[in-house]
Amino acid sequence: MGDLASISEFPEQASWLEISQAAIVHNIAIYRNSVDSNVLLGCVLKGNAYGHGLMQCLEIMHGYIDIIFVINPIDAFKIRKYEKENDLTQKRVVVLGAISADEAVRCARKVIEVVIGDENWLHKLHNLKRSEEDAGNAYRPLKAHIHIDTGLGREGFTVDNIAEKIDFLTKFKDLIHIQGVMSHFSNTEDVTEQSYAYEQLAAFDNAFAQIEKKLALAYPLERHFAQSAASLVLPNARYEIMRVGIALYGLWPSIETKLSTRVVLQDLPKLKPALTWKCLSQSIKHIREGSYIGYGCTFRADRDLRVALFPLGYYDGYPRLLSNKSYVLINEMRCRVLGRVMMNHIIVDVTEATSDETSVVATLIGSNGKESISAENLADWSQTINYEIVTRIGSHLKRVVVD
Ligand SMILES: *Cc1c(COP(=O)(O)O)cnc(C)c1O
Repeated sequence: MGDLASISEFPEQASWLEISQAAIVHNIAIYRNSVDSNVLLGCVLKGNAYGHGLMQCLEIMHGYIDIIFVINPIDAFKIRKYEKENDLTQKRVVVLGAISADEAVRCARKVIEVVIGDENWLHKLHNLKRSEEDAGNAYRPLKAHIHIDTGLGREGFTVDNIAEKIDFLTKFKDLIHIQGVMSHFSNTEDVTEQSYAYEQLAAFDNAFAQIEKKLALAYPLERHFAQSAASLVLPNARYEIMRVGIALYGLWPSIETKLSTRVVLQDLPKLKPALTWKCLSQSIKHIREGSYIGYGCTFRADRDLRVALFPLGYYDGYPRLLSNKSYVLINEMRCRVLGRVMMNHIIVDVTEATSDETSVVATLIGSNGKESISAENLADWSQTINYEIVTRIGSHLKRVVVD
């Protein structure tokens, strides 16, 4: 057992990710400057920071943004720990996702904001009340945002009779501080014609007015609605805070968003992808014309080939749907992935890219010379979206921050 402590957290022979600090800082500047400098900028660090690495992205972004949004309360606690260990001023942190009654108590104590979007919160608030009484009311109040479902059909109170639905919150005035009201768009990135989003905005404004009246607070409530796409293409949706995810990592939410952004901003900001995924070959060998490669014999060599084996597969988040479809970059050339993507291996044609058996580095996502392969390319080849490609890159892989 003792030996385990001396083993590095990451195997040396595995694929790894390089996360560009300059790219992320550049993308943040786009939202700060070209979008709207008066609106608070929130970054979304859910899903292991869209696969880019929570702690790596936290380190890069902490000094540049106003608010951090996460889904999982555990991530929020990690952020508070990081701030404490590094003597940093606490940023506002909001947990968007589901939390337990005990986690709500911990959030109150660590000044982490939560989102209330259903009546299950009643028992969590009773639990919070009990534990705060035990602690002598030391940690009151818990800061909370009310989530309105304006048409996504996911979390949040539906708009009908909203004032009645949130009535229970008025009974916990000392215990919770209602900070804001939020909602989330359904299809802004799927279309260039935003009529559904306008309906959602109208429902939101309507619900917000009812909530303001019901709560009759002495201070203004914050409103937040816009993710990456709406922050760009729906200026009316920016309100007081933007919650920007994918674009800060340098990826466009969709082609439609790109097209609409050019129209709305009369300019197309240049987002810079922050992630490069690389892998060192495990071995290189010759195979004869007519031999098969990989499970299921789905690839047969049409000539003698030099092939490289890479220790990476669908376990690491390289989709199996890329079998016989994708390319990797080696020595500035595009090289075919041959046969099926396996759990821990892919095999690549390096006949043109190298002249001997010396190990080579493949770029799976990123640039190499004039060539590049984007998360969008992998998404197209495997019938999904760039969000899923990057988020599914295994959290067991090493992520290094580069300039
Ligand atoms: C994921 C998410 C966002 C960010 O979305 P992007 O399209 O990545 O910018 C914002 N708000 C909520 C509630 C989310 O779940």
